Amino acid sequence: METTNVLRRNLLNMKSEVKIKLMGDQVSKLKQLNSSDMEEQRFFQNQNQDYVDQAGSGSGSEERANEPLDEEGQVSASFQKKVQSKIKDLLQQMEEGLKTADPHDFSTYTGWTGIALLYLQLHRCSQESSHLQRALDYVKRTLRILNGRKVSFLCGDAGPLAVGAVVHHKLRNTEESQDCLNRLVLLQSSVLSDSDLSDELLYGRAGFLFALLYVNREMGEHTVEESTITQVVSAILDSGKSLSQDQKKTERCPLLYEWHRKQYLGAAHGLTGIFYMLLQPGARVPADVLSEFVRPSIDYVRHKKFRSGNFPSSLSNESDRLVQWCHGAPGVIHTLLMAHQVFQEEKYLKEASDCSEVIWQRGFLRKGYGLCHGTAGNGFIFLSLYRRTKERKYLFRACKVWLGLCTSCRNWRTPRPPASLPSNSDLLRKMKRKRRKMKRRRKKNRSLDM
Ligand SMILES: [Zn+2]
Repeated sequence: METTNVLRRNLLNMKSEVKIKLMGDQVSKLKQLNSSDMEEQRFFQNQNQDYVDQAGSGSGSEERANEPLDEEGQVSASFQKKVQSKIKDLLQQMEEGLKTADPHDFSTYTGWTGIALLYLQLHRCSQESSHLQRALDYVKRTLRILNGRKVSFLCGDAGPLAVGAVVHHKLRNTEESQDCLNRLVLLQSSVLSDSDLSDELLYGRAGFLFALLYVNREMGEHTVEESTITQVVSAILDSGKSLSQDQKKTERCPLLYEWHRKQYLGAAHGLTGIFYMLLQPGARVPADVLSEFVRPSIDYVRHKKFRSGNFPSSLSNESDRLVQWCHGAPGVIHTLLMAHQVFQEEKYLKEASDCSEVIWQRGFLRKGYGLCHGTAGNGFIFLSLYRRTKERKYLFRACKVWLGLCTSCRNWRTPRPPASLPSNSDLLRKMKRKRRKMKRRRKKNRSLDM
């Protein structure tokens, strides 16, 4: 099994108590914080040794230092075994936790479609039919409770319909798959006509575009007609041009977007999440539009970078606080990597790599282990960088994040939302808290009895 897939699966599931080693210029900044400030820190100190690059030294010491990588620079067999066994264990715990989860939450972000997607991903890696069957169970459940309120992949009906189409397609249930597709494409009219709809990834048009491209990637390039995709892309571009004009930013940032009247930069609500979607080859944005509108807008965001390598959450926010997929460098890096792929310019890759340092320093979050605003989402960056660069350092760091995720989570804060897919294993934490509460109550009752 491909090692990155093994880790990817686990970053979806694991929990952590990780210490972060502070390096570089962050050390001096953080030394200035007093102890109460440190209590308020959003992340754990990373005490991991970093990857030791001693190519050709032949001493053998680097191999030990770089565990869990073997001498070939691959994830060692024993580590992979550990990962496999943890997956089994956590799936059991997750299923147990799901017994008390919100029965009405069908979304990918916080609900049952997220669980279906997890099983679909497990099936992709393991080829086990039981995983696909489990995905189908959850898909059936979600399709009964859609509410027509939102249109995005993560939070709206588009997610369950897209995942449903894919799961049925893999099981050769042609009619059911087609039904999901038809219902998905029908959402397009409200995506195009609703002038109040945002453009961002979590709730808006880019989130709907994600669902269309996901279906095409999984079921074949022309499953969703090109004209459908083009119309959604045009709506996103028009909206960005229009706000840029209103704000007199056409020279600096020809595509500008806002959500709740704030110009966010991060992946969930902001510019970089939308640019990431426009850069997808499947979005078929013409080359001249990419270079005239998308590239200068990405470059505009690049120049908002803090010295630490992190990014502000919005254009009006100067504080270097959040290091997570939804706000901060982790989300921006995915867009930089896409920009490197599309524009073939080294500066995007270099910047993605430089920015990832802030994640190694401040990315082990106290909020939890989720993908949106948790440690797993940040660890994902190292897998993406490894896939692009093949540098062992990134695979090593991803392994270290995973190891951290496997240790205790008792110092975590309650993540928001508490049971989201991007933090779906938070269910486990919820259960533990419930058990602790019951234990305390029993103890109290006993002492009252005495
Ligand atoms: Zn988040």
